[in-house]
Amino acid sequence: MRARCPRSPLIQMKSPLEAPEKQVAAETSAKSARRGDTDSSSGEREKAAVSSVIDTSKMSKGQREALELAEASRDPLDDRGSFASNLFIGRYGFDRISPWPAQSEEDRAAGAGFLQKLENYLREHVNPDEIDRTGEIPPENFRGLAEIGAFGIKVPKKYGGLGLSQTNYGRAAVLLGSWDGNVAALVSAHQSIGVAQPLLLFGTEEQKQKYLPRVAGGEISAFALTESHAGSDPATMSLRAEPASDGSEFVLNGQKLWCTNGVKAGVLVVMARTPSKMVNGKERKQITAFIVDVDTPGLEITYRCRFMGLRALYNAVVTFTDVHVPRENIIFKEGAGLRVALTTLNTGRLTLPAACVGVSKRLLEISRKWAGERVQWGVPIGKHAAVAGKIAEMAGNVFAMEAMTFLTSSLLDRKVGDLRIETAMCKMWATETTWKIADDAMQVRGGRGYETAHSLAGRGEPAIGVERFLRDCRVNTIFEGSSEIMRLFIAREALDPHLKVGGAIFNTQLPVSERARAVFTSGKFYAGWYPRQWLPNGVRKIDNLHSNLTRHVDYAARTSKRLARGLFHAMARFGPKLDREQLLLSRFVGIATELFAISATCSYAQWLLGQGKPGDEVLAIAEYFCRSSRLRIDNHFAGTARNADKRGYQLTQDLLAGKHALLREGIVK
Ligand SMILES: Cc1cc2nc3c(=O)[nH]c(=O)nc-3n(C[C@H](O)[C@H](O)[C@H](O)COP(=O)(O)OP(=O)(O)OC[C@H]3O[C@@H](n4cnc5c(N)ncnc54)[C@H](O)[C@@H]3O)c2cc1C
Repeated sequence: MRARCPRSPLIQMKSPLEAPEKQVAAETSAKSARRGDTDSSSGEREKAAVSSVIDTSKMSKGQREALELAEASRDPLDDRGSFASNLFIGRYGFDRISPWPAQSEEDRAAGAGFLQKLENYLREHVNPDEIDRTGEIPPENFRGLAEIGAFGIKVPKKYGGLGLSQTNYGRAAVLLGSWDGNVAALVSAHQSIGVAQPLLLFGTEEQKQKYLPRVAGGEISAFALTESHAGSDPATMSLRAEPASDGSEFVLNGQKLWCTNGVKAGVLVVMARTPSKMVNGKERKQITAFIVDVDTPGLEITYRCRFMGLRALYNAVVTFTDVHVPRENIIFKEGAGLRVALTTLNTGRLTLPAACVGVSKRLLEISRKWAGERVQWGVPIGKHAAVAGKIAEMAGNVFAMEAMTFLTSSLLDRKVGDLRIETAMCKMWATETTWKIADDAMQVRGGRGYETAHSLAGRGEPAIGVERFLRDCRVNTIFEGSSEIMRLFIAREALDPHLKVGGAIFNTQLPVSERARAVFTSGKFYAGWYPRQWLPNGVRKIDNLHSNLTRHVDYAARTSKRLARGLFHAMARFGPKLDREQLLLSRFVGIATELFAISATCSYAQWLLGQGKPGDEVLAIAEYFCRSSRLRIDNHFAGTARNADKRGYQLTQDLLAGKHALLREGIVK
């Protein structure tokens, strides 16, 4: 490496795209400066991870416990990272997502029959406005959905399910989302996070044989993690599972909140605190996942919660009083409950963006029709630029949402590695974008958007329930990992290579010798890595990529390096305090997510062109999306340089402390 000055990129240097394997490994799984961090034992790795990369000495007890538990439950990303995680280190691997990993004909054929049945069933037998109005899903819908196999879509055939792929499951979620949020949530909570998914990932053969046929056949399941004091922060969980004296069973006491499907469920996955362990002389909280049959004595559904949207959600407060659960009902192993939950969600949360594709397509269709037929001020409202702008944005976003979600689904089916960043990006981006689409669709429909379908029908207009979609989709940015938590989760993974290389430098809990060694190791690493991030080249010619798309892919490659530099500069500026700069980090996460969206869009568009879809249409929509995404990226970068974050933070602290009484005057309290 001949680079001397980080600001004068040298032509002779190899581009990261030509990087040798050694460099790839160094960048994506940069080894910690701490000796022993390469230890293969996962327990040791966990301990080393939190103690070497993050200084917890200045944190409050609650913060430290939450962080230690999260870190101990986190599996490190695999060595090569993933397409999305590599964006943060300026390594743009378009060849990992292009050519588009199309669903095989065989897989498509395997799902076609079921998807057709589901579509017919929804249209003919599920009345979404009635379900919303009454707050109940009729019992015959439970039976009908079970008969067509909708409760065991991914469960292998040998356990009584349909054995379909993630992609086909995603297609089912699109259909469900486009029709009825309540049924979508029922089916999704049942198999994306309910008993099926954790058992498929971690269950023993006995557990699979016992429970999978039951849930695939229509016995409803649910996932119980949240408690009144444990929302985003599971470390504060208090439901306890104490081992009985002979160790053969555990006794559960406590309460779970907002357990979707709880009211109808036959079997639950329950996260509970088991006795703490001493790790390095310190108490380490243990969370364990149990399968619990709802008819076990002592288990009661004590309340049904009701919400702004998803009015027919069978969401429960579940109370446990001396509930005896056999040891063999532990999923994976004692103390690994949070890992079970997090890993389940890493895949499970992909159902939400797929359902969002359905919601968004439906809202686009409603808006498109209305904008063409509603005439105001002498022309259809779609001719007014303010309305046209909204519809164009919806269209571009729908295209990108489908691209991101089904790219990730297809990569999951191909088992190409760890896709937690991709699924988190899909979840965060799709749920937030769908909320914006619902808001815009309501605006396009005007007063009719705000009126209920029932009321519209009552006065002779078509029963189009935009307000129902808006109410139903709002919660998507809150559950299965809120948007704020998704940003922190993605940022944690983005910083990981850097924390491993340089985190120890700032960690006052480590001996001086270890910190000094980290200075040396990281100096060596960054002397090679940093100059490469200034190289001007993006991607060179990519075979079989339309020139209009190449432009955007090239931009994404260049911008990935700009992102990597920005993140590095932020680390240099804030050091170990960077994790407190949530708004700054969220801009970096926003940039990477948009880059992922642009890249997925271009790969998808190219595939559609190859399939003979109308080229002008495909390019118009893909290019519109890329251009608007680039504007959002510009905004994020501008915000990293100039913002009011500090002032805003102080203002909020003052408000919380009771200052600015003026703002509380003149209202009914
Ligand atoms: C309709 C519905 C269905 C649900 N279904 C289930 C289910 O089936 N099973 C289950 O276990 N749970 C379920 N939940 C719970 C859901 O997962 C939680 O609501 C979610 O985890 C957030 O927890 P909380 O509501 O307590 O918010 P809190 O954790 O109290 O957070 C409040 C706000 O603060 C933000 N915040 C919290 N911590 C941080 C931080 N460190 N940094 C930045 N921002 C932060 C959050 O993003 C949020 O905006 C459901 C909830 C609802 C409303």
